[in-house]
Amino acid sequence: MTAARGTDGVLVDRYGRVARDLRVSLTDKCNLRCTYCMPAEGLPWLAGPQLLSDDEIVRLVRVAVERLGVTEVRFTGGEPLIRPGVVGIVAAVAALEPRPRISLTTNGLGLDRLAPALRAAGLDRVNVSLDTLDAARFARLTRRDRLADVLAGLAGAAAAGLTPVKINSVLMRGVNDDEAPALLRFALAHGYELRFIEQMPLDAQHGWDRAAMVTADEILATLRTGGDASTEGNARSGGDAGTGFDLTPDPAERGAAPAETWLVDGGPARVGVIGSVTRPFCGDCDRTRLTADGQVRACLFATEESDLRGALRAGADDDELARRWRAAMWGKRAGHGIDDPTFLQPARPMSAIGG
Ligand code: SAM
Repeated sequence: MTAARGTDGVLVDRYGRVARDLRVSLTDKCNLRCTYCMPAEGLPWLAGPQLLSDDEIVRLVRVAVERLGVTEVRFTGGEPLIRPGVVGIVAAVAALEPRPRISLTTNGLGLDRLAPALRAAGLDRVNVSLDTLDAARFARLTRRDRLADVLAGLAGAAAAGLTPVKINSVLMRGVNDDEAPALLRFALAHGYELRFIEQMPLDAQHGWDRAAMVTADEILATLRTGGDASTEGNARSGGDAGTGFDLTPDPAERGAAPAETWLVDGGPARVGVIGSVTRPFCGDCDRTRLTADGQVRACLFATEESDLRGALRAGADDDELARRWRAAMWGKRAGHGIDDPTFLQPARPMSAIGG
């Protein structure tokens, strides 16, 4: 399918997809060191002047909302809660007309403390990343002994009304792939919505291995059987290992949502699987991304970026910024191409793009 070039209005690409969901990275830094994301020593972080200021972020989001048809804004990172101005940025975006829906993806550290202020500022909901319920395993996986803080963050988000609170989990073979049923039981018990995400080739260390990846099909099969009752991990997690879930396709319209969802034991509770690698949804993708240093990316896996920070600091007006943003999105590729033999992992890792 081809489309009319987007010189005016929305962020359309040559395949006719329209981007309405903006992911904004507030920082490339993080206070965890998840082994599948970055090395123990961290990464060469962006220097202060390279980062967009709070006002620059709000201006670009305003251009996206007022001129480019963006209706959803998700703040991410790195870890967005470590940006000092996060509450003010949320408040400024919530004051835009038309008001976008606003969400935030976080590792949950400090969320119990910040949730009420974020809610009051206009944040609608959060996604919290949690890959294990076992404290020792959490410390190994994230290189920080902070499981209790994440659990407090989840509870704080729910108490502040940042609902539905969603949990993102990445399963890795031999690391936490035995925990899918326990994670789902935990989510059901607390009223959180769980989504499993297939691991993608976006790690700073370039250690991703397709053959080792836990696939969407495997995750669903494990949930249906309840996993292996004899595994140490399940026992440690306190789940009723061995009792499977009845998963039926969710009749709700999926739209551009990356997660395929299933009703659990007849519903209304649901579980989602984001099969980015084995069940790509690029044809329905409605995302545009802004990095913490002001680069537009049409795709997580794009190898090209379009510099809005330079234009903005050189005095570009809103029309010019909108024109550049449209041009960047017009060139969005049909798909991420992970299965293509010529696939090249983008230079920036997930943490620097904004996951
Ligand atoms: N710090 C925040 C957090 O932890 O949610 C936001 C940034 S983090 C990069 C966003 C999400 O990306 C997390 O759920 C994390 O597990 C996930 N992630 C990181 N690397 C990934 C990879 N290679 N494949 C799939 N998901 C990944």
